[in-house]
Amino acid sequence: MTEMLLKYFREQQKHVETERIYNTQCPYCSMQCKMQLVEQTHVKRKTYKTIGTDNPTSQGRLCIKGMNAHQHPLHKDRIQYPLLKVNGEFVKISWREALDYIKEHVTEIQEKNGADALGVYGSASITNEEAYLLGKFARVALKTKYIDYNGRLCMSAAASAASKTFGMDRGFTNSLQEIPFTECIMLAGTNIAECQPTIMPYFEKAKENGAFIIAIDPRETGTTKIADLHLKLKPGSDAALANGILKVIIEENYLDERFLQERVNGFEEVMQYVASLEFSVIEEITGVPLEKMYQAARMFGQRETGMIFTARGVEQQTDGSAAVQNFLNILLSVGKIGKPRCGYGAITGQGNGQGAREHGQKADQLPGYRSIENHEHRMYIADVWNIEEKDLPRKGVSAYEMIEKIHDGEIKGLFLVCSNPTVSNPNANFVKKAFEKLEFLVVADMFESETAKLANLILPASSYLEDEGTMTNVEGRVTLREASFPRRGEIKHDWEILCEIAKVLGKEEYFSFSSAEEIFNELRIASKGGIADYSGITYERLRAEKGILWPCRSLTDKGTERLFETRFAHSDGKAMMVPVSNQAIVPKAKITKKYPLYLTTGRVVSHYLTGVQTRKSASLSARNFESFMEIHPSTAKKYEISNQELVQIESSYGRIVVRSKFSEGIRPDTVFVPFHWADSQNVNNLVSEKLDPACKMPGFKVSAVNISPSVKRSSY
Ligand code: SF4
Repeated sequence: MTEMLLKYFREQQKHVETERIYNTQCPYCSMQCKMQLVEQTHVKRKTYKTIGTDNPTSQGRLCIKGMNAHQHPLHKDRIQYPLLKVNGEFVKISWREALDYIKEHVTEIQEKNGADALGVYGSASITNEEAYLLGKFARVALKTKYIDYNGRLCMSAAASAASKTFGMDRGFTNSLQEIPFTECIMLAGTNIAECQPTIMPYFEKAKENGAFIIAIDPRETGTTKIADLHLKLKPGSDAALANGILKVIIEENYLDERFLQERVNGFEEVMQYVASLEFSVIEEITGVPLEKMYQAARMFGQRETGMIFTARGVEQQTDGSAAVQNFLNILLSVGKIGKPRCGYGAITGQGNGQGAREHGQKADQLPGYRSIENHEHRMYIADVWNIEEKDLPRKGVSAYEMIEKIHDGEIKGLFLVCSNPTVSNPNANFVKKAFEKLEFLVVADMFESETAKLANLILPASSYLEDEGTMTNVEGRVTLREASFPRRGEIKHDWEILCEIAKVLGKEEYFSFSSAEEIFNELRIASKGGIADYSGITYERLRAEKGILWPCRSLTDKGTERLFETRFAHSDGKAMMVPVSNQAIVPKAKITKKYPLYLTTGRVVSHYLTGVQTRKSASLSARNFESFMEIHPSTAKKYEISNQELVQIESSYGRIVVRSKFSEGIRPDTVFVPFHWADSQNVNNLVSEKLDPACKMPGFKVSAVNISPSVKRSSY
């Protein structure tokens, strides 16, 4: 900090009359950095700043998003009262009127069309308590099978791959503390420098300690800069690249044969399949030179310890689940898991990407990572909820498939909590049309997001500063987010809203909670004995121990730092390897004469998801107030596009207009557009609706597009 700034801050402190501290946690990414909001009263005004506080995960660090995270909850545009749409305009109504409106419409729609005519769409940004309650609300209060959430677009591929391979899905198999001491790291399709900046020091420390870092990404990013080897693959070719690395590992025998024999099923099949593949074909598919695949395989195979991390770059594809499985095949083949400084991490995007997928918001899931189609699991949860097993709905469909059902008229009403699906889903033009067809849309949110604008009723929801609850971070560490900031107007917590709606629907006896902690205590029982067992975790312990890694099966259980040390979670205790094809079953977009460039999408450091919150922050918005298209200068020249020029990007699904941004670091056959903007800048207007059959993840990472200058430019 410069001397001048320090002087300014010292001068400011002199005039502070009162100071209040609010302990909280950043609402954005999966690092869930602990922080404090500092409210100072000066002679004529109040000021706010956010500072990081010590904890085992982020160790006191904050990134630019965290430092400015107070700006959106304090924003003047916060919705503070229930808003009903009347003649196209939102008008303020009382909670009583809002609840009566909901009762009337729920009853009418369900009496006419059956229970499944209503759906629920949740979020991976809400607390564990709210995710749990939302699942219970759908199945017990509404009795609908249709519930899913926006984590489907984010974590479903990694979750499905880990479940198939290891028998369970906790994003990280180890705590972050082991990363600095591992000797080789593979970062596949992750730009942590922009998406989870406070995790970076773990990797920088590893590098200082001599680790060899391999980055896999079609672009140069802040993350690839720390890599010793960058495999700049063609978008969508991750599964094939993993096959290439695996082929070298097998050929040069870096295998851990004892580990494979004792702890893994399926290696023989993988070996035979990989032997049948040609390096030249893999080179052609991936665009990665063979010698680089050799280098990656040798480094990962030869080093004593190593870890692999994947994120959306690998996962958001129509074979995302299989591609992650293939990276796990690499890890298992060299036996680098279940021991110190060896393991896997799926770097979650959303704040509660981990916890929100464990306790029943997914279409096929019950709390504790139980299956809604498993009789024993159904019996257990029905007992906890005090209902008959036969009254528990069966599985529904994934987030995008629910939207298709809305479009088809099967789902007529929707409850939406803390999400902006008309912007975040693929084929966004279609999604918006589907939402416009809804007879009844109730949205609980802080702002009039693009989706909330389409609602019949908006309910004012509390922010992270006001709403207490647990979040499960990137490591699988359950943390308690304290919250004490006063609520304005008639804002309510999501869990209070659900309890009040349940009450007017006559289901009060199942939803008589008066605090988040009471909900958590029911969640603990509901998760007991499940894969994600939280039964030994209490608020008191979370305060004292600063977070606990699940599974935690009793009050004396310290939690589980490292998974799979003696056995994997499949019933025979072994991990499962399966051969993974170079090509996806659901084909990805191919470049053609009409659409000659790949489009890939991602994030920038100053924004989060569809930007509903970060675009309200003056500091964050100022850093990136509009979207852009990153393009190699040689490609731009071919299309007669200048730097910083408005460009039209077109796919077979739609078109958008964004500003060009030259970068020597991107592949010449690829352009990149971030996904934080809506309307004519919404890159999801260009993305196909095709889903990964294994986990229903859309293929956000690969589209085929054409580009052209959008307007004639002149300079003065
Ligand atoms: Fe931490 Fe993520 Fe928030 Fe940044 S955005 S402060 S890394 S939780």
